[in-house]
Amino acid sequence: MDGTDDTNGLHGPHDVNGMNGAGGPDGTDGPDGPGGAGEDRARAVRRDAAVRAAVEQGLLGPGSPLVCLLDVTGIRASAASLRAAFAAVTAPGTPVLHAFAVKATPLVPVLRLLHEEGLGAEVASPGELALARAAGVPAARIVLDSPAKTPAELREALELGVAVNADNPQELARIDALVGSAVPRSPLGIRVNPQVGGGSIGALSTATATSKFGMGLRDEGVREWIVRAYLDRPWLTRLHTHTGSQGIPLPLMAQGVARTYALAEEINARAGRRQVDTLDLGGGLPVNFGSEETTPTYAQYARLLRETVPGLFDGRYGLVTEFGRSLLAKQGTVVTRVEYTKRAGGRPVAVTHAGVQVATRTVYAPEAWPLRLAAYDAQGRPKAGPEVVQDVAGPACFAGDLLAEGRALAPLEPGDHVAALDTGAYFLAHHYAYNSLPRPGIYGFAPDGSGGIAFVTVRKPQTLRDIVAEAGGEHASALTALRTPERA
Ligand SMILES: *Cc1c(COP(=O)(O)O)cnc(C)c1O
Repeated sequence: MDGTDDTNGLHGPHDVNGMNGAGGPDGTDGPDGPGGAGEDRARAVRRDAAVRAAVEQGLLGPGSPLVCLLDVTGIRASAASLRAAFAAVTAPGTPVLHAFAVKATPLVPVLRLLHEEGLGAEVASPGELALARAAGVPAARIVLDSPAKTPAELREALELGVAVNADNPQELARIDALVGSAVPRSPLGIRVNPQVGGGSIGALSTATATSKFGMGLRDEGVREWIVRAYLDRPWLTRLHTHTGSQGIPLPLMAQGVARTYALAEEINARAGRRQVDTLDLGGGLPVNFGSEETTPTYAQYARLLRETVPGLFDGRYGLVTEFGRSLLAKQGTVVTRVEYTKRAGGRPVAVTHAGVQVATRTVYAPEAWPLRLAAYDAQGRPKAGPEVVQDVAGPACFAGDLLAEGRALAPLEPGDHVAALDTGAYFLAHHYAYNSLPRPGIYGFAPDGSGGIAFVTVRKPQTLRDIVAEAGGEHASALTALRTPERA
């Protein structure tokens, strides 16, 4: 360990649950906090410079035709805008823990960077918990959610003091057994499904009537069951909701929070004390994949929340948020070299090395997950020129492996580059092992202080040896050696 635990002085005076006090010097950069249109423009400039430098420095070239780039400056700015947005709407001294949803970008150096920026981690598997701990995120700043926690996972979380949100009554019974008559170290809560309805992407809508997540607040008898569960367990002090990801309109998200808040008020009224002291609002701020603009902003969402649920911000409740995609999407870029160009049925096709292995959702569900593409020339300079409608294809052996179909871009030639933008969350670190394509290297970049760009390795590219090992290489003769014994 290298002293990343709690050395950044972010903990406020009311910091009983390891949450940092909001209301610092943030929120002084205008109505939308740090960032805004200026940051959007600056990010695009930094990205162009990084692509150019990646080519110049040989990170990207004929031998390494696919790289992923993370904008360290942008990640810090994104974290700052989140902190500022909530600092601007919460009563002074309100504990606020922004727990980054690890599944969005499960990379240890990213979690370490966000920790340094004052964020915690929301984890949903033993692997994600291990990543957060490897990054040095203290247990008190980790929240464990997941619909399928095993008894061993629950025991570990409670031993560490990691916050846990129980998904269902059976899980709560397991927690009962673990807690026994002790006072648990972990803040504990129940995840509720406010059943406010879905958004435009069904697979990411977690608050439909029949969603698999949490306890359905409007199902018969459930609300009363939850209230009783709290009255019977003085150690239940949190309530958790997450209305969905990408495609959920902000007012629907706010309504999900409002229903959860109303339940907390009811529990506290019936308990005659402030038993529920913290509301976990989940994540899910949508990302604009259509242009450079960051919209909606954290500031807009925080203001809408305060208008919809004013009582949430008057200082009686600590807050937890769990944003993932909105923190990282615009800070990541997948860049690939054009290997060949051809024409098929009259349409130009650029064959690249970025396809289903790095943009799985886009390839399989292009309507739901369109990506912006940018063309660069062989030197990594933005490529201008009269746009041509073309397909940008990946390397995998199936016809649908397209980053974009019929996209207007400067005419691409072999040796040029194509960047898939806004791929910092749920893309570049979500490898799909089709065709045994290697996981590409992921590099962080920042200005080097003398006008250039410095790169650092976040994740090494996978080697052929790694691929063979992952494909059972050390068990090569396992199947041929398995013979049914002959009968005597
Ligand atoms: C996925 C998830 C998040 C993060 O969602 P984003 O859309 O990436 O912000 C937060 N909380 C829970 C419980 C989740 O499942």
